[in-house]
Amino acid sequence: MSVRPDELSPSAQALLGDRAYPESQVSYGGATYWLERSVEGVKRLVAMADDESPFRDFAGSAERIDGQVRFLAETTPENALALRSALPWLNPSRFGLHTSAGFGDRLGLATPGHVQALKTLGAAINPVFAQQSIREMGRCRRTPRNVLDDATWGAFQAGWTNPVGGDADHLEQLDDIDATADAGFVFYTLDPKAEVDPEAEHADSGTVQQKVEALHWPGLESDLATFTKTYVGRRIDLEHEDIELDEESALRALAKYGPSLAHAMAMYRRLMEKGIDCEVEFAVDETDYPTTPAEHVVVVSELQRLGMDFVSFAPRFVGRFEKGVEYIGDLEELSRDFEIHAQIARALGPYKLSLHSGSDKFSTYPLIAEATQGLVHLKTAGTSWAEALRVIANNDPDLMREILALALDSFEANRKSYHLSCDPTKIPADPSDDEVARLMDVVDSRQVLHVGYGAILEAFGPRMYQVWNDHEEEHYRIIADHFVRHLTPFAPYAR
Ligand SMILES: [Zn+2]
Repeated sequence: MSVRPDELSPSAQALLGDRAYPESQVSYGGATYWLERSVEGVKRLVAMADDESPFRDFAGSAERIDGQVRFLAETTPENALALRSALPWLNPSRFGLHTSAGFGDRLGLATPGHVQALKTLGAAINPVFAQQSIREMGRCRRTPRNVLDDATWGAFQAGWTNPVGGDADHLEQLDDIDATADAGFVFYTLDPKAEVDPEAEHADSGTVQQKVEALHWPGLESDLATFTKTYVGRRIDLEHEDIELDEESALRALAKYGPSLAHAMAMYRRLMEKGIDCEVEFAVDETDYPTTPAEHVVVVSELQRLGMDFVSFAPRFVGRFEKGVEYIGDLEELSRDFEIHAQIARALGPYKLSLHSGSDKFSTYPLIAEATQGLVHLKTAGTSWAEALRVIANNDPDLMREILALALDSFEANRKSYHLSCDPTKIPADPSDDEVARLMDVVDSRQVLHVGYGAILEAFGPRMYQVWNDHEEEHYRIIADHFVRHLTPFAPYAR
């Protein structure tokens, strides 16, 4: 898509000094662009062209050197927008049913590491560098535009010239659609978890019946008799097995998910009104109980009947997907769960099965990659943050001790809305340097630090960014190594 230069003009070469990121250098649309950083770590865009016309949309300064124009611009939101316009592959695009992965980056620093991982793998996995949930943006004090712009600069810096996605993740309210729609995201994850009714899981049949009768049926554009006729006794022929819905499973599914379907449709319609070229994921992965195959069938069929067009579905899989640690549960059972949900996704769609892994579920990746045959979206979010803390631990153990103390102090507040099994009392209160270096390898401290990002960044943000800035290459290498581990199982199935 882009044209990489065979060589820069001699004058441009002379200016491409030690401070430049050589892999960022790219020629397109009559100009050559690259990114530089000052000794203090401030980055700026540099570009050369025969005249100023390619730089119309940027805010910056131009000077003439040897008959060429050299243009300098700060990495502002305005210039990020102009860069996406000048180098169009940096604009988020839709991936449809192609294999994709969402990386997530709470700091706005990790994208070059993510790019390194993808370049190392060389697989056709489509990256979503810009991805953050509304909840996280709030805790990190970032705006949707920050998320998108940081990913733009990072992808540019690391020389990524293939398509990128952009995920406005875990949107729960109509307002969340409004807040993210203008920024330029193309992938919207609709998460109506607050409207999923956990009581329906174990309620007796009389209660289930009451719940179903009490549903707001106009919102579902249906009625109980129609629903019953459609689903009770319905048989779905899958590749290796069949599912038959009986009255019990169909009604319980509707009691559990019915209100969430109406809410998700309201969000979907709000999004469609924006007229954006985008795609949608439907996610219930953060709910209390696993999504059964029968529930999957009912939920997806009802959304399709109501007119939702989605490219991926994130059920709540069996077992526990806690933040930043391995899968907790029976891998054989999970493998069967992946397999049947993947078969349903192929039979009713096809659409991608989406795994919100909560990061670092290395044992599960080969299983879902195989079950879906690459019709899959992998979503991680906080693992880049957890790995970035290694850079702090390696280079400023004293700061890391302060960070740990705060994470422990604020743990009860930080853990809200997360499923965790860590035991903070097992974490050394005053760790030695060796213990500091291992904090990110031990479940208890990794989880406590994983969920503490809001309070930690609030208190230590500038000092931490200084460390990451001073040890940029180490940071990228750690992130890249970690993501190669995440993505390798998907590579053979990427499509
Ligand atoms: Zn999720």
